[in-house]
Amino acid sequence: MKCPYCNHVMKRGHIQSGNLLSWTPEGESSTGVSRWSKSPNSIVLANCSLLSGSAVDAFYCPNCKKIIINVDNQNEFTL
Ligand SMILES: [Zn+2]
Repeated sequence: MKCPYCNHVMKRGHIQSGNLLSWTPEGESSTGVSRWSKSPNSIVLANCSLLSGSAVDAFYCPNCKKIIINVDNQNEFTL
């Protein structure tokens, strides 16, 4: 994948967490009724497994110091 800012090849990797990874609109809480659930307006980046945590593929540009994550709609998660 090429960086949309500087057009250099981005490094592929992943971001890991022990909890659900999500993007949440500014001013809203990122969690729902439990630490594993999301708020209604959050977009889930990676679901959390009790055994392995959560991880999502991400691309890093060392030039721009930016990370890009592709959002997968199949990661919708509710409790
Ligand atoms: Zn870049």
